[in-house]
Amino acid sequence: MVLIKMKILVIGGAGYIGSHTVKELVKEHNVIVYDNLETGHEELVDKKAIFVKGDLADKDKLNSVFKDNKIDVVMHFANHALVAESVENPSKYFENNVFNGINLLDVMVKSNVNKIIFSSSCAVYGIPKEIPIIEGHTLNPINPYGESKMMFERILRYYDVAHGIKSISLRYFNVAGASLDCTIGEKHDIETHLIPIILDAALGKKEYMEILGDNYGTYDGTCIRDFVHVVDVANAHLAALGYLVKNMQTKSYNIGTGQGYSVKEIIELCKQITGREIKTLIKEKRKGDPPVLVANSDRFNEEIGWNAKFSITDMIQHAWNWHQKNN
Ligand code: UDP
Repeated sequence: MVLIKMKILVIGGAGYIGSHTVKELVKEHNVIVYDNLETGHEELVDKKAIFVKGDLADKDKLNSVFKDNKIDVVMHFANHALVAESVENPSKYFENNVFNGINLLDVMVKSNVNKIIFSSSCAVYGIPKEIPIIEGHTLNPINPYGESKMMFERILRYYDVAHGIKSISLRYFNVAGASLDCTIGEKHDIETHLIPIILDAALGKKEYMEILGDNYGTYDGTCIRDFVHVVDVANAHLAALGYLVKNMQTKSYNIGTGQGYSVKEIIELCKQITGREIKTLIKEKRKGDPPVLVANSDRFNEEIGWNAKFSITDMIQHAWNWHQKNN
């Protein structure tokens, strides 16, 4: 679909998924990135985008960005995203992911901006009753992170009713990989995600990689996740953007590949791809981890025409390329 050039405000565009989406967006649109750099990195932001350092809690600053620019569409990535931390510190999650998100919506209403794409999560489903998970599955989050995502999706629906704000919520499954040219990738000061942690062990930065639970009711006892390449996720945002502008409807979609891999399978693949030894240690389960999360993304595929292009080996290979360059 040919789209006219738009001005897109990307909140949280210096983070992992945000920066990959910005890299794709700048090819077709004018992009402003707004990020407080608490977990994001300015060097990940494409030079073709305008960068504004600011916090989601800072309503005055947000107002001035909307006043100075005629924003067509907002993409909102600026959420705290660690399940375990959310269990320890729920206040941080509800304050930023819900309360500060409402700031953004109120500024949008005031500025007559009526389109937003929101980074939601498969954590809204909790422990799924049926695999693969469809969007119509009951929403029953089991941790404050998932709860905050579900609450914000619901708030978006009420802002549609009250103010005509149209939104697409993308429920990501496990995002992995790095840009193909190896210029940007996953960079967290405190790393909690599976693939970068395994790659740290492959690089010798850690003596062991910890398997967080091997007595789940799965085929090898470890958790099963649906990994999706970050470049596929970025392209899902571009597809959603075209659909939102054309159809102006509030919707939620799963973004995954439909294929699950266990933690042990991912470790084996990382061993093969890196050719390195990776030692493991079995530890206790992490609080708030559902045993199996695998997406049915047919709704997004059929309505919006997006398909994941990259395989799990691509994700690990691209993450490994980036990891070696940046460690
Ligand atoms: N995991 C693990 N060891 C680690 C980090 C994660 O065994 O050091 C497991 C975790 O328990 C979960 C899966 O890997 O089952 C994916 O965790 P991650 O934090 O990458 O993503 P999440 O599913 O929490 O979004």
